[in-house]
Amino acid sequence: MKKEYLKKENQIAIKKAVNSSLENRQKFFKSQNIEENQYKEKMTAIRKKPFEDFEKNLKMAKENFKKRGFKVYEAMDAKEARNFLNKIIGKNKKISSSKTNTGREIEIKKVAEKFDWSETDLGDFIVKMFKETDEHFVLPAIHITAEMIVEKIKQIYKEDIEADPEKLTHYLCQKIREKILRAEVGVTGANFFTQAGQVILLENEGNISLVSRLPKKHIVLCGIDKITESVEDAVKLCQTAAIFGTGQDITQYISIISGPSKTADIENQLVEGAQGAQEVHIILVDNGRREMIKRGFGDILRCINCGSCINFCPVYNQKGSQYGNDGYIGSKGIVFEAVQKGLKQAQQVGSHNCNLCDSCYRNCPMKIALSEMVRQIREEQELKRIQSSANKEMLGKIKKDGNPFGGKSDEKIPDKLYCC
Ligand code: SF4
Repeated sequence: MKKEYLKKENQIAIKKAVNSSLENRQKFFKSQNIEENQYKEKMTAIRKKPFEDFEKNLKMAKENFKKRGFKVYEAMDAKEARNFLNKIIGKNKKISSSKTNTGREIEIKKVAEKFDWSETDLGDFIVKMFKETDEHFVLPAIHITAEMIVEKIKQIYKEDIEADPEKLTHYLCQKIREKILRAEVGVTGANFFTQAGQVILLENEGNISLVSRLPKKHIVLCGIDKITESVEDAVKLCQTAAIFGTGQDITQYISIISGPSKTADIENQLVEGAQGAQEVHIILVDNGRREMIKRGFGDILRCINCGSCINFCPVYNQKGSQYGNDGYIGSKGIVFEAVQKGLKQAQQVGSHNCNLCDSCYRNCPMKIALSEMVRQIREEQELKRIQSSANKEMLGKIKKDGNPFGGKSDEKIPDKLYCC
């Protein structure tokens, strides 16, 4: 059963993580003597460039991927993306994957359940131990405390580990490494890809580098919106994602993948498949993105998934991952749901929970006006008479009694009205 609100201890854990990321972000800008808003404007301009002639640039990226030895697929919807994934995995059984938001979006779990599939991001691994869902784009286990993990390890592995983040991390990373070492296929997302046909991946843990290099087959799954003009731009945006995601100045690793591993060390004959992956496949997912551009939600495609918008969202703070859709938490999830599944479904995942406070916009490095998009969705819903049960109730009371609270007597009407 879906939980409605986060428990107090989950809210406290989230607040702790969010506050430290904000402090780190502020410290970064202060130490570099950079004005935050100017920085945002500069990065937003960089991110906008490939969308100026999107189809042409995407075509160029696909052609360049092929030239570099990638196998390229374009999936129009989630089902087609899952079919490609199944087909590419083929007869292999042991799969390792790293965190991929596009994977969540296409319900990758429907593919994963058929294989011996292991998550390798520590946060995702922890969430899976608890049989829960991610509570954050960047920090999926943000709601789980060290004490809770200790208890879970006792239950699953019958071992007693101290409630110390360092000891717990080392213990669990060893378990994850064993899974990566035996994997035949590695599945990752992509933070960006370039028009010149390179995939850019950023990470802290080192699991993505291993997942993309050790198995013989590497499958990249990402939205068509991850396009950037150049590696230089992508690296700058990786830094932005780190600053606004966790408050780091840069992540520990950034990988640039330009195709399968290769060597010409024997008689100068080029051979594909050396120490890294022998095959690299990329599945580019549309799943409503072109439709978003047509319907006026195109700015959302600039999102770099830093998670900053939800960190300070009062609705997320109360509802956690229940606010948003299965792919994306928060208002981004509402917009994706409205376009991918419909206005009614958007209402069910929280379009009327948003209080339009604009905290997401103020914290977004890409200056994406998410609450404006939610407001547009509500307008479209209203035109189709799709309303929340609370709205319907209020409208009924206005019609009957002339006020949204019901009743005619003065004492039932508050002397102050709070309006968003
Ligand atoms: S909408 Fe903005 S703040 Fe939210 S994840 Fe995307 S880039 Fe980050």
